[in-house]
Amino acid sequence: MKHSIHHVDAKRVFAFIFAAVLVSIGLRPAGSQDAATGLSGADAAEAVEVNADASATTESDSDADEIEDPPYIPKTVAQLQKSLSPIQFKVTQNEETETAFRNKYWDNKKEGLYRCIVCGQALFTSETKFKSGTGWPSFYDPISKERIGMKVDFRLIYPRQEVHCSRCEAHLGHVFNDGPKDKTGKRYCLNSAALRFEEATEKSKSANDKKR
Ligand SMILES: [Zn+2]
Repeated sequence: MKHSIHHVDAKRVFAFIFAAVLVSIGLRPAGSQDAATGLSGADAAEAVEVNADASATTESDSDADEIEDPPYIPKTVAQLQKSLSPIQFKVTQNEETETAFRNKYWDNKKEGLYRCIVCGQALFTSETKFKSGTGWPSFYDPISKERIGMKVDFRLIYPRQEVHCSRCEAHLGHVFNDGPKDKTGKRYCLNSAALRFEEATEKSKSANDKKR
């Protein structure tokens, strides 16, 4: 008799701990909707992970408010084929990767903004670009976490974190955890073909200098 009471108690304790763990890590049973975000359990878990990854971006978020983006006008595949070069189309729409060291911006040291080649949204700035030695333009942080999206990519044997434009979903590249340790530790390895560089004007350069 005594034994069975203990058994029930143990079960209750376990259920309580399990529920507490689920809540604490932001998980909910699959298929349930999160009232606050409208995300399913799986989506919410992914969102938590992505937010954790991009948590180091908060420092530059205030600057993001001052950047103007062109209005977003979604394009059809036919329109994209017309407006993009073959390599720009292959990279942004089919997630292909351009050749290292034989692309436009891997060694670009000019000050300015890197915008999405498809929709023009500003994604990265020269301030977080660093020399990675990979032959692709590399950054340790986007302008803000809202401007990019991520998903896990299994194209190679090992899973990689894919990065795309949050507005038009153009594929940009991948993010790895071997970036500068004194910064975010992230390396956003991007394709030049997915980007349009906009050099800083004298006006924006002096505004930046004043901020420092
Ligand atoms: Zn875009």
